[in-house]
Amino acid sequence: MLLEVAVGAPVRGTFTYEADDDARLEPGQRLVVPFGRRRAIGFYLGPAQAAPEGKVRRIEQALDGETLFSPDLLSLIRFAADYYLYPLGEALRSALPPDLGRVDRQPATERAPAIETVSLIQPAEVWKAALGRSRSQAALAAHLEARGGSARLEELKVAVKDAPALVRKLAAKGILALHAADGGAPDSPFSGGQAPRPSDDQARAIETITASLGRFETFLLHGVTGSGKTEVYLRIISEVRERGGGALVLVPEIALTPQLAGRFRARFGSQVAVLHSGLSDRERTREHSRLRNGEATIAVGVRSAVFAPVPSLGVVIVDEEHEPSFKQEEKLRYNARDLAVYRARLNQTPCVLGSATPSLESLANAREGRYRLVELPERIDSRPLPTVELVDLSAARRTRNEAPTEPRDELELLGPRLSLALEETLASGKQAILFLNRRGHASLVLCGACGESARCPDCDVALTHHLSRGGELRCHYCDFRTPKPAGCPSCKGELLVIGAGTERVERELAKRFPDARTLRLDRDAVGSTAELTRILAAFAKGEADVLVGTQMVAKGHDFPGVTLVGVILADIGLGMPDFRASERTFQLLAQVAGRAGRGRDPGRVLIQSFHPSASAIACVEGHDFPRFAAGELERRRELGYPPFSRALAVRIEGEDSAEAERTGRRLAEAAKRWAFPGMKLLGPAPAPIARLRGRSRFQLLLLAQGPGPLQALGRRLVDVAQTAPNGVKVAFDMDPLSM
Ligand code: ADP
Ligand code: ZN
Repeated sequence: MLLEVAVGAPVRGTFTYEADDDARLEPGQRLVVPFGRRRAIGFYLGPAQAAPEGKVRRIEQALDGETLFSPDLLSLIRFAADYYLYPLGEALRSALPPDLGRVDRQPATERAPAIETVSLIQPAEVWKAALGRSRSQAALAAHLEARGGSARLEELKVAVKDAPALVRKLAAKGILALHAADGGAPDSPFSGGQAPRPSDDQARAIETITASLGRFETFLLHGVTGSGKTEVYLRIISEVRERGGGALVLVPEIALTPQLAGRFRARFGSQVAVLHSGLSDRERTREHSRLRNGEATIAVGVRSAVFAPVPSLGVVIVDEEHEPSFKQEEKLRYNARDLAVYRARLNQTPCVLGSATPSLESLANAREGRYRLVELPERIDSRPLPTVELVDLSAARRTRNEAPTEPRDELELLGPRLSLALEETLASGKQAILFLNRRGHASLVLCGACGESARCPDCDVALTHHLSRGGELRCHYCDFRTPKPAGCPSCKGELLVIGAGTERVERELAKRFPDARTLRLDRDAVGSTAELTRILAAFAKGEADVLVGTQMVAKGHDFPGVTLVGVILADIGLGMPDFRASERTFQLLAQVAGRAGRGRDPGRVLIQSFHPSASAIACVEGHDFPRFAAGELERRRELGYPPFSRALAVRIEGEDSAEAERTGRRLAEAAKRWAFPGMKLLGPAPAPIARLRGRSRFQLLLLAQGPGPLQALGRRLVDVAQTAPNGVKVAFDMDPLSM
């Protein structure tokens, strides 16, 4: 018989292969197929519609004896491949643990560890209600109940027909827990992790969301920092588990928030499969199979976990939904948050998007009634939000009234007010966090008097300083260029080029506060996940007084001892050449401010800035998300940026800069020719990181009212890209998050 197969290789379209007529294959099942001169992993899609011309090759082997993709997952990945303009076979492959996507490691499906004992984890009234019509499953549960709730699988096999299969089904429904021989003592799902009594706001949120279990609805859970969103997630999941369902929880970066995974484990024990980038391939395969065979029913993981094989999915949760790390920036360039919503819809379950600073996309969806807004406006125990004070650096600079000698001195890292606040904090035995989001590339060019950074007249994004032609500023959207002006375009003040980083802050601290115990957290200081966990744990235990770092310190950490948060230079984010620069800056500042005053003592936040009147900074002062969002939405509407349009970025890179640029222009011409009415085309322009690892990078940005026209055009551009010269790579990025 003839099969339609998606091959795990970077090629477009599907292929036809032949297999024995009596081969029993399931949709999505893995195959080994000959492909060109090598072998590849393929995925069975269904019977081929028609015989192709030429010789049809035979599959070599069918793997696993069954498909690894449930029907909902298969639909999800088909949708993703289509939407993100990426080959289906590659998309399927990347949705599996790496070991299962390789042809040279077969057979790689690691058997789940042998099950030794099983135990009931639901009270009789729950499993009786859940198993109404499945008599054999109910019989097995009754047998266990009679035996005091648990039994060895060997005994069950003797007492109950088909015990292993039934046990798997019951585990998938969340009625049984399975314990491997080496698994130690059976975990009770509620071992440890005493659940606190929900506050009134929490109770309302839990009630609203659980009322929609069993159907699709998306909730935007907008809760201020420390309002207890996690507890809301845990309660909803408990409810889902009681009904025999599983849960998918996406979190931005597990390594950065080990506490969070710990809270899920404490509440649900071995029911939780944790999926993050720190796992070995083997561990990943193992967690994957634990979910697939129902041993675990709750997947907590980073973006790729959106493809986790959660059994009987009953709820999908995305924590910190605004976080850019949900976007995959290579290969299948998906946004896990968006796919999570789609997956919830496929499964007819609620989807909860939680954040203290929702993305403007989600906010717009809530305003238009597509998402339902649920709010937690207060911190737990009515603890106050920290007070936020803005420190105007340009004023400080004016009063210092001295010509800067060299660029390094242009920014006083620890200004007088911040120094004083640090001194007080240290004297009272409390802890402080100092935040400076200094990213590697692009040094910041801004006016020392008014704080404005030079912006593109057409695109309203910050211009980037290039050394070419004696110093020029360029727009990374439309390629507008202008010689670097002598003074600030708006006030003629002096332009500063600032390149401060966290290391300098650490040195400065050591000089001023030699007795303070300091820890640093950034990509340079932290090499491994273990090291990161160690630093976070040490700070949590009070082994250091000050934690200095990049955005890594801003994440959801819960350090009750922290009463002071200092932001060294808030303007850094605003200088990024990205239309979301302002939104990102606000989110980060609000997030890092939220680390202060989570314990009994109130918190204080000092934000140093050359431009404290910028909305992204000013609105942090009053914790005024609504005002920030309203203003920013208005600006986006005027400029026609998302969420008032959809975007497709085409990214081109090559060793030969001229050739890459030529390809960019060819794609732009093709796009212009086929553009739909109302579509906007920007570029080609150099990417913000114009050269990386010896390759020149260009980009093209297409904006349209909805995704439909972009996809239609995108598909035609994919064909044009196929004819790009060797060595030039073209990637398509739907709903790009960074430029
Ligand atoms: P968020 O994720 O909204 O920032 P968390 O879920 O981390 O907030 O909760 C903040 C703190 O409050 C945590 O230490 C958590 O254990 C605690 N907490 C949450 N809900 C309750 C509650 N109902 N009663 C007491 N403490 C709670
Ligand atoms: Zn521009």
